Amino acid sequence: SVYDRHVDLPTFMEGVKKRNPGQDEFVQAVQEVAQDVFDFIEDKEEYHEAQILRRIAEPDRIVSFRVCWEDDNHCIRVQRGWRVQNNNAIGPYKGGIRFHPTVNESVLKFLAFEQTFKNSLTGLPMGGGKGGANFNPKGKSDSEVMRFCQSFMTELQRHIGPDTDVPAGDIGVGSREIGYMFGQYKRITNRWEGVLTGKGTEYGGSKMRPEATGYGAVYFMQNMLRHAGQDVEGKAAVISGSGNVATHAAEKILQLGGKVLTLSDSGGFIHDPDGIDQEKIDWVKRLKNERRGRISEYADHFTNASFHKGKRPWDVECDLALPCATQNELNEDEARALVANGCIAVAEGANMPTTLDGVKVFHDAQLMYGPGKAANAGGVAVSGLEMSQNAERISWNHDRLGQMLTELMEGIHEQCVEYGKQGDYVDYVRGANIAGFKKVADAMLAFGVM
Ligand code: GLU
Repeated sequence: SVYDRHVDLPTFMEGVKKRNPGQDEFVQAVQEVAQDVFDFIEDKEEYHEAQILRRIAEPDRIVSFRVCWEDDNHCIRVQRGWRVQNNNAIGPYKGGIRFHPTVNESVLKFLAFEQTFKNSLTGLPMGGGKGGANFNPKGKSDSEVMRFCQSFMTELQRHIGPDTDVPAGDIGVGSREIGYMFGQYKRITNRWEGVLTGKGTEYGGSKMRPEATGYGAVYFMQNMLRHAGQDVEGKAAVISGSGNVATHAAEKILQLGGKVLTLSDSGGFIHDPDGIDQEKIDWVKRLKNERRGRISEYADHFTNASFHKGKRPWDVECDLALPCATQNELNEDEARALVANGCIAVAEGANMPTTLDGVKVFHDAQLMYGPGKAANAGGVAVSGLEMSQNAERISWNHDRLGQMLTELMEGIHEQCVEYGKQGDYVDYVRGANIAGFKKVADAMLAFGVM
């Protein structure tokens, strides 16, 4: 029975599926962690007895609310918003807000679950949460986005706080949206406090936060390569996405002497055999942040580049791959194509971009594979540093934060090696899962049954 102290993995997963019907993304994320954790706790009675994983896979709280707003044609629009507070054993709930039409409870539950392990891995005192709405910012005017953000925060503000839950950005939520939401929080509560991260540097944001996720993913890649006696220099990288994470990952690959061949968005990918240099990256940043345009325009603008409508970039020949778009954007066949084309390392800037079958292909091929919860943790880590700076009412400079980010990513890599080493091969998924789990689990054991 599921109440047995020593429930086995298949029985455990059966229970997860039964309790979360139709929530495929959430079940997928739990399964990926449960495989490793069950192995690790096999002979550790206390974790079994306390049903720790069962408890982590049951969010502490889910707030679900209506978000009503008026569009430019004076039509009243209604959306669903959520905040999933997964686990606050080691610190206040922390995690981004996503605005995208694919957002639903399953997606936010999987993200909040992953965030719990990721945040634990950073070594900073942050629990795991995630929020968002099924709002599509595409094609919306600035004032529509503002009204939506204000309405969203009007409800969310009562559930968050600098020592309770500290949201940040994610897909569809960048500095513009954070500004509107922070302003509304401040107006309603009459309190200036570090309740959101990813703020503008003028009003308490941290330097390095915009760069942190993308740079951090490349530092993780660099750490994996170095561990195997290799380097980024001279290697060709395929990157998906064209937002904050992808463009900064591209920038760091360039700075380390690598070449970037692709970027993408939901419309397709662009392939530039000449390499995407800094000037082109800056052009993409302006395209996305100021004009909110489509990546297809890149191919009209730069000679030799081609646009591949409706396609993903994984069959382009490369040494390194960095999925920086969204969940399940790299499947089993695409993983096979990468391996066949000679790709040696994958570092995930997105959350859970590779399907479970795809991950298996990477492991079978003994490729260096850094899962999102380790490789993209630089973003939330610098968010943690933003919280520290806000609490201390100070602001650290770029160099200091850059140094701290480098060290944080080295620390995350080291923990993955410690718990994931299997002879010459490092199973980074296992390493990240176990290192992330252990700290949260030990804290929960200390609290007793709750
Ligand atoms: N949304 C980012 C993530 O997936 C950042 C979260 C944060 O900074 O709190 O980790």
